[in-house]
Amino acid sequence: MTQDNRKPLDKPEANGWHWQTNILHTDTQLPAGFSAMPVPVARASTVVFPDLAAMRSLDWKNDSQWRYGLHATPTSMELMRRLAALEGGKHCLLFPSGLSAISNVYFGLIKSGDDVLIPDNAYGPNRDHGDWLAQAWGITVRYYDPMIGEGIGELIQPNTKLIWLEAPGSVTMEVPDIPAIARVARERGVLTAIDNTYSAGLAFRPFDHGVDISVQALTKYQSGGSDILMGGVVTIDDDIHHRLKQARMRLGVGVSADDCSLVLRSLGNLQLRFEAHDRSAMTLATWLGTRHEIAAVLHPAFEDCPGYQNFRRDFTGAGGLFSVVFDERYSQAQIDAFIEGLRLFKIGFSWGGAHSLALPYRVPSMRTATPWPHKGGLVRFYVGLEDVRDLQADIEASLKAHLVA
Ligand SMILES: *Cc1c(COP(=O)(O)O)cnc(C)c1O
Repeated sequence: MTQDNRKPLDKPEANGWHWQTNILHTDTQLPAGFSAMPVPVARASTVVFPDLAAMRSLDWKNDSQWRYGLHATPTSMELMRRLAALEGGKHCLLFPSGLSAISNVYFGLIKSGDDVLIPDNAYGPNRDHGDWLAQAWGITVRYYDPMIGEGIGELIQPNTKLIWLEAPGSVTMEVPDIPAIARVARERGVLTAIDNTYSAGLAFRPFDHGVDISVQALTKYQSGGSDILMGGVVTIDDDIHHRLKQARMRLGVGVSADDCSLVLRSLGNLQLRFEAHDRSAMTLATWLGTRHEIAAVLHPAFEDCPGYQNFRRDFTGAGGLFSVVFDERYSQAQIDAFIEGLRLFKIGFSWGGAHSLALPYRVPSMRTATPWPHKGGLVRFYVGLEDVRDLQADIEASLKAHLVA
């Protein structure tokens, strides 16, 4: 018997191909009989077609065809289905961040010469995006009082194509009359898009109130772990979906199957987390309202919050976000020292995870269409999942240490 000195990789395997070929050409499917709870992670750039006819018959509008991993995989599709169902929509598209989702709404629906209306309390980067479009792309962008209601009709021009909504504004918490704005917009043939991140799609159902497009920063509650960036756009109308889908394809944005699987994992306890954040935030906001250092609590479930009646009528919950305005006798330096003196509330952007956060905002520099009635400094709290007694003790200790009258 002659000795075979070839390295294992050099010997053909039973099917006539070598190890190096077979490791690349496995055709692994989930075997029949294997069953597990998680949605499988389908990573792909290339998607393989059974034959050329299948490749040639691709229609980009058809959401049930697999074309390229950038556009959809079974994992991202499952996430899209569940997110659309959550908000009562029909279609969903995923983006690498919430801001990218906002941006795609502009690119899909707006062109030079068009006019866009943005609420004065909108998420800062959306304002910045609008200003950039106005300067660089020949689009007019105007800011409106979020409490304008039906009065929005007076601002609509023949070239107005899109009205943004945000409810509540994620720093100042006014709750607009969304059904009124959406009704007037629809009568005048103007599309409405809501940044519905505050409600996680759980506490407010935009399509029941006549809104056309719902944008989510999935980075927040849907991710829930402060570890994923993702955005979603949910729609109910096929034509709007197709316009947004085409823009997304042209811009070349996509999301990873691994990130989608983590968001799918978090969605299972989304409602439980949201309710827990809501309870703790209510406890802290109520207590802060009794403190002499605080001039106003900005929480939409509180009667003195602008739009409280709209909130009661249209929303089913509030989550972990609220702001306070300090008494004007405190300087910004004292308020900064209060924030830096907190041990459990961390300083950082974004929210929606398990950890509590606190940030100062200078509201007058953030708005152009409406006066700001408060004089003192504003701090926004995001209330996480720590024991609320420890959070209250943390705030109390820092108030005592840094806000001596
Ligand atoms: C965080 C946030 C966004 C943007 O989400 P990113 O994923 O951070 O880009 C948009 N709108 C609101 C209201 C947000 O809080």
